[in-house]
Amino acid sequence: CGIIGVLGNEEAVPRIMAGLKRLEYRGYDSAGVATVHDGRLDRRRAPGKLVNLDAVLETAPLPGAAGIGHTRWATHGAPNETNAHPHATYRAAVVHNGIIENFAELRRELEEKGAVFESETDAEVCPQLITYYLENENLTPAEAFKKAIGRMRGAFAFAAIFSGEEDLMICGRKGSPLAIGRGDGEMFIGSDAYALAPFTNRITYLEEGDWAVLTRDSIDIRDESGAKVTRAEKISSASQ
Ligand code: GLU
Repeated sequence: CGIIGVLGNEEAVPRIMAGLKRLEYRGYDSAGVATVHDGRLDRRRAPGKLVNLDAVLETAPLPGAAGIGHTRWATHGAPNETNAHPHATYRAAVVHNGIIENFAELRRELEEKGAVFESETDAEVCPQLITYYLENENLTPAEAFKKAIGRMRGAFAFAAIFSGEEDLMICGRKGSPLAIGRGDGEMFIGSDAYALAPFTNRITYLEEGDWAVLTRDSIDIRDESGAKVTRAEKISSASQ
């Protein structure tokens, strides 16, 4: 339902939580955050309101300057901790808005190849597909992400981070909105510009089928075919 991503120069979790709080108006049933720190992915999730996730983070802090967060409005799978996003393997953590219509057949295909799923969601096929392509086809994270979203039918927005990559975030959209926010040597992703207003007002909206490879200093946007495209940066008037 709500997506935040941060490639920053300070602790990511307080900023992700601030962004998620600004997305609360959309409604949600659970929430979670993931970061990459010392090369490793880790995450915290909780059912219910953001205060529950705050409490989890209080007892088990999550360090790292790069991370993603999500507020979930369940469509596939009960609203509990296991089904809360980010969904992850040791290699990729992903947040997802929308619905992946062909998730059941993708899941079956991956399970036949040995993937082990832990949730009941449609969303989990995304990190599992990315991981499969990274491990078995020797693709880069960007190539694996592009190939994975090419397999999925439905309406979605995704943001992903990767183990061993602390200056990389990849996002894409088809049917659900996604905005990139450029800071000063920092980069942000949000499902709307309002959520990013505390961090930056320099907003680039992805168009239908676009996906983007982000570092702290660069935005590389591609269309569905993989061709490089330019999308205008706008100054957002969303209030802080
Ligand atoms: N379909 C996904 C799920 O049920 C994402 C729902 C959302 O947009 O929050 O986990």
